[in-house]
Amino acid sequence: MTPTRILVLNSGSSSVKYQLLDMADGKRLAVGLAERIGEDTSALTHHPLGTGGDKRRHECRLADHDAALKAVAGELSADGIGLDSPELAAIGHRVVHGGLRFTEPTLIDDAVLKEIERLVPVAPLHNPANITGIRTAQRLRPDLPQVAVFDTAFHSSMPEHAARYAIDVRTADEHRIRRYGFHGTSHAYVSRKTAELLGKDPSEVNVIVLHLGNGASASAVRGGLCVDTSMGLTPLEGLVMGTRSGDIDPAVVFHLGRVAGMGTDEVDELLNKRSGLVGLCGENDMREIRRRIDEGDAAAKLAFDIYIHRLKKYIGAYYAVLGTVDAVVFTAGVGENAAPVREAAVAGLDQLGLAVDAELNTAPGDAARLISPASARVKVGIVPTDEELEIAEQTYALVTAR
Ligand code: ADP
Repeated sequence: MTPTRILVLNSGSSSVKYQLLDMADGKRLAVGLAERIGEDTSALTHHPLGTGGDKRRHECRLADHDAALKAVAGELSADGIGLDSPELAAIGHRVVHGGLRFTEPTLIDDAVLKEIERLVPVAPLHNPANITGIRTAQRLRPDLPQVAVFDTAFHSSMPEHAARYAIDVRTADEHRIRRYGFHGTSHAYVSRKTAELLGKDPSEVNVIVLHLGNGASASAVRGGLCVDTSMGLTPLEGLVMGTRSGDIDPAVVFHLGRVAGMGTDEVDELLNKRSGLVGLCGENDMREIRRRIDEGDAAAKLAFDIYIHRLKKYIGAYYAVLGTVDAVVFTAGVGENAAPVREAAVAGLDQLGLAVDAELNTAPGDAARLISPASARVKVGIVPTDEELEIAEQTYALVTAR
């Protein structure tokens, strides 16, 4: 029997999200989340989709990632789909930063792990957690192929003029300072699905992808290749996000140091955790922001307007970068669900051939679909992202090609 199952792990500093998929039919056998690892209130939520069983939630202390993954393995075993199963082909890991070296899914060995470690200075929050997840999974199944799928990989096709910052070249090169971009797995998946939705090959279409989740990024994709994206050296650059400022004059950092005596770590925390929608109105959930706007809340309205203004600037910028655009697509939590965001983001862009049909935009649905009027020159769509499926597909393709 050829093994066809892939376990996808997305390890954060205090959480592990996982999905077990069977690539024979693309079906999900189980999904789950271990959260607040290391705290007293940790919990494991496990949903055995393959058996149609009920979601199980255990509130139990998960001291570290090792304990968390063992608990996950226990849940999978209880459903008869444990990690010791001969049907498991590989484990695919989401790794946030692949630097310049990793532009493809990569089979993990000691040298690869060392290189991911070497990238910790450019991804201090994410790569250490990803490494912990990989090491833990290796201990559980040392014989199994483990594959790293990098958030930065899809953006490695960006030309130098989009990837470089206009700063002293030697300083930039010495410290590996350039624009890497993130959410690449989602941008790759969504841009490909958009081509499918248009009935074309990815090489034939130019797409602007707006990934609007708690983190948010835009990308310009020409003929299946990313030519620009809004996140940079770190995920801080670009769009207004749930808690991140996105683009800001870098002099704000020096200014805060001088006038407020804030150290770099404090400013880092301010811009990454206490900015964006949360910084502007105390709330990062778009549903709640819309509810407050409906009640006449001025701070929520201003936060929404700033969010939309930035989004519109990126649509315009990427339109100019691409020259011709076949589709603008919305994805992730906000992009897939918030009709007012989609409507406002393209409002007034008719001269660019962009418009949404009010009815299509507000109609419920969870399939990839177009929401522009039939006559629209540029299609506007909603394409639900599926990063786990993309990681599983890339992992499976790599291990079956060996
Ligand atoms: P993450 O970046 O954490 O993966 P998601 O893509 O899951 O985030 O997006 C989470 C965000 O999506 C929430 O913070 C919320 O603002 C937004 N969201 C989720 N559901 C809805 C909805 N029904 N309407 C509007 N916004 C929503």
